[in-house]
Amino acid sequence: MKRIFTLLLIISAGTLSAQEIEISRIEPPNWWVGMNNNHLQLLVYGKNISKSTPEIRHEGVTLTDVKRTENPNYLFLNLMLDKNLQPGNMIITFTGEKRTLTREYFFKKRRNGSSEREGFNSSEVMYLLMPDRFANGNPENDEVAGMREKPDRNNNNGRHGGDIKGIISHIDYLKNLGIGSLWINPLVENDNPEYSYHGYAITDFYNIDARYGSNDDYLSLVNKCHNNNIKVVMDMVFNHCSVYHWFIMDLPSSDWIHQFDDYTRSNFRAQTTFDPYASDADKTRMITGWFDVHMADLNQNNPLLANYLIQNSIWWIEHANLDGIRIDTQPYSYKSFISKWGEAVFKEYPNFNVVGESWLHKEAYVAYFQGGTNNFDGYDSHIPSVTDFPMRDALSSAFKENDGWVEGLARFYYIHGQDYLYGDPYNLLVFADNHDLDRIYSALDTNFAHWKMSMALMLTTRGLPCIYYGTEILMQGIEHTGHGNIRKDFPGGWTGDTRNAFNGEGRTAKEEKAYNYLSKLIHWRNNNEVVQSGKFKHFIPENNTYVYFRYNDDHCTMIAFNNHPTEIKALDAVKYKECIDNYTYAVNALTGDPVYLMDSFSIQPKSVLILDFKK
Ligand code: CA
Repeated sequence: MKRIFTLLLIISAGTLSAQEIEISRIEPPNWWVGMNNNHLQLLVYGKNISKSTPEIRHEGVTLTDVKRTENPNYLFLNLMLDKNLQPGNMIITFTGEKRTLTREYFFKKRRNGSSEREGFNSSEVMYLLMPDRFANGNPENDEVAGMREKPDRNNNNGRHGGDIKGIISHIDYLKNLGIGSLWINPLVENDNPEYSYHGYAITDFYNIDARYGSNDDYLSLVNKCHNNNIKVVMDMVFNHCSVYHWFIMDLPSSDWIHQFDDYTRSNFRAQTTFDPYASDADKTRMITGWFDVHMADLNQNNPLLANYLIQNSIWWIEHANLDGIRIDTQPYSYKSFISKWGEAVFKEYPNFNVVGESWLHKEAYVAYFQGGTNNFDGYDSHIPSVTDFPMRDALSSAFKENDGWVEGLARFYYIHGQDYLYGDPYNLLVFADNHDLDRIYSALDTNFAHWKMSMALMLTTRGLPCIYYGTEILMQGIEHTGHGNIRKDFPGGWTGDTRNAFNGEGRTAKEEKAYNYLSKLIHWRNNNEVVQSGKFKHFIPENNTYVYFRYNDDHCTMIAFNNHPTEIKALDAVKYKECIDNYTYAVNALTGDPVYLMDSFSIQPKSVLILDFKK
């Protein structure tokens, strides 16, 4: 890719002397008064704009510094904003050799309480949905003039037409399921010629893809979610962007991205980031290698780019009134940048929450990337939540295995036992599957009992449970057969679908059973604070059983699994005395039945028993 980009730079550089200055973009497109950070960096883009002299005469604003790069089409303005800056328009003047341009720049007033916004947390059940595949609320925007990829619902890897309006029209569905926060795969523009639906090859960091709606539509979605007590988590990508991104097609500087003579892919070994024995070659390739041939690897060590990305995140939090951010491929960016990003975000929003995708299969590896972890090298990512991949691995395999010293239910015992590694195990994102993995029902060989146990564990262990859309109706799909198969359209999301699984009548008997089971568990969890945030205590698994408790000073819930295929297991209550001694009876969370005889508990084969203890 290097030669192509170099050529582009030469072409633009060769034409600069003859042309007048132009301005096509200023980013961020607006800012707010009263932010804690009083610095603002404006990226100004337009032909030969670096040949101009910018000037700002506005009360409360000082132009402290102007940065030029090797590409004459960029100008970076560093502003200092005083506390007395008032909302309103500011004029920026750009004086060129042949002409002078002026632009208005708007400072908005912040929402009341913006800096105190509370991020998503373990009291809610999160729902992850892929917007192109959930519901098509507006068929008119499936195809947008000028955008590179056209809709094709017959193509597994094509655009299917789902959009923001489709999500808005199913907020009631999410509410009825009991969902408390919504993570949507990226909605910002992905104007790529093919395979653009997944959202991770961004072509514009500041605009919602027109096929999903507008920036205002996104704000409407957030407002409607908030009116229904659903928080919204925005998916952000700092490691890479599309090769069709406007600033990749006209690079501000050659070090804006990592470039190689030949295409060089990351080795995807994120542990090289901290492995004490890792070679420099492996470490460098992990961070600087490209994630995919269509995704340019961004160099966040470039301070102009780092500021650009940090401000973009803060802009979206303010603009869209967000409740959280999910960071894609956290370990693939420079870890110093992630830490700086986290500090900047939490300086503005101390009660916010952010979950970083840390796709690693060992507890110690995942823990390294969570903020507050006591790392051997002193590194602190400042990212409060990370993805519990070891737990996901167990949720998709343990119930299929026989009882053993390390296999079967023992997997959960060992995972929980390593929670001391984490900065905050109670803020881990717990999930059975997601948009990159085998759907959980398929991973469990479509065994309904195993699926139920997996869901129950996900919703009762420590941390923040996250359900991938369609799991509630047992949607199937195996990753290695193609990503389209794990991201199928939700049945009923499109006009003319043969059935509508958003309604009970449109679901098969088995889907209805699954939906009701999951919905019941979620609603029970929503009303049970001790399961959301109580302490965790477990007992050594034995005879195909595993028992743990969530508890605080006043409440106690027991979660007991029997993974034996045929035998009913009786648990001796005396063993759990330290947890249940102060209670007189219990209520079965799933049936509502009281349980008075507590010298032993019986658990049916391949099932979970959840008991809320009462005084
Ligand atoms: Ca549409």
